[in-house]
Amino acid sequence: MKRLLVLALAATSLFANAQTYPGSKPISIVVPFAAGGPTDRVARDLAEAMRKAMGGSANFVVENVNGAGGTIGATKVAKASPDGHTLLLFHIGMAATPALYRKLQYKPLEDFEYLGLINEVPMTLIGKPQLPANTYRDFENYIKANSGKLNIAHAGLGSASHLCGLMWQSAINAKEAMTTIPFGGTGPAMNALVGGQVDLMCDQTTNTTGQIEAGRVKAFAVTTAKPLSKHKLLKDYPSLQEMGLKGFDLTIWHGLYAPKGTPPAVLAQLNTALKLALKDADFVKKQEGLGAVVVTDKRMEPAAHKAFVAGEIAKLKPVIDAAKQFAD
Ligand code: ASP
Repeated sequence: MKRLLVLALAATSLFANAQTYPGSKPISIVVPFAAGGPTDRVARDLAEAMRKAMGGSANFVVENVNGAGGTIGATKVAKASPDGHTLLLFHIGMAATPALYRKLQYKPLEDFEYLGLINEVPMTLIGKPQLPANTYRDFENYIKANSGKLNIAHAGLGSASHLCGLMWQSAINAKEAMTTIPFGGTGPAMNALVGGQVDLMCDQTTNTTGQIEAGRVKAFAVTTAKPLSKHKLLKDYPSLQEMGLKGFDLTIWHGLYAPKGTPPAVLAQLNTALKLALKDADFVKKQEGLGAVVVTDKRMEPAAHKAFVAGEIAKLKPVIDAAKQFAD
């Protein structure tokens, strides 16, 4: 509570002195995936919480720049004017894309200012409602029995859903069994799944929870090492590790970035607003309801965020190299 008060006071003085920034020009949060997906969901809720944190004076807009597993949007922000009016909200792809893409036009650790991590989000393995299976075991048997006939959707080459699908297919030895269908984000991929045009997908709970609850998709398992025993809906699904996929443990995280060279005073305002937003009761409640955990520790700080991403790059590269998967 005391920390929150100190933050709020710091914000009041920071934003009171902000004659030039943000001014009346909007702050665009670039989401590198289509509207209606989980990264878009986090960005829209965060934009509202940051607007409130900045005393309602800032005008945030969410811009969806989708394609190529998030790399088109990230490239746009890396090359944008470093004036605090163009930010990037990206997920684990920030760390996975350097291994997945050989011709990446940005360097994650050199071309961005780090503003802080936002949340951690588990994933769920889901299928179209018409699938006959109701349990994970039945689902796995169904996949194997229908080898070559099914398709799995993802949000673009190198996206989190692509990564999850690859890891899962290789863990159950079903790599040849499915056709992969890329979309510009989970929004359109989910529409295809709900409509029965694709058979399955692995995606963040921020987008799947509502669909599972409404019965528009079937859920079979969660990707975290342990089941999500505290979540009112997701507690009913086993973890893939429990189902025998040894070591399977995948959690997605989101972070906020600005182009390299953004002035330190602007970065300080944005980080303060981010930290306040991450403590905003509405934001936290919405995220928790969707199965996400909002970051509370030092990873809200730019240096810790950057160190975390560096660690994730080092962790993911050998996994992706071993799978010999390139997106370009
Ligand atoms: N969930 C997506 C992914 O698989 C991206 C999105 O639409 O947020 O990376």
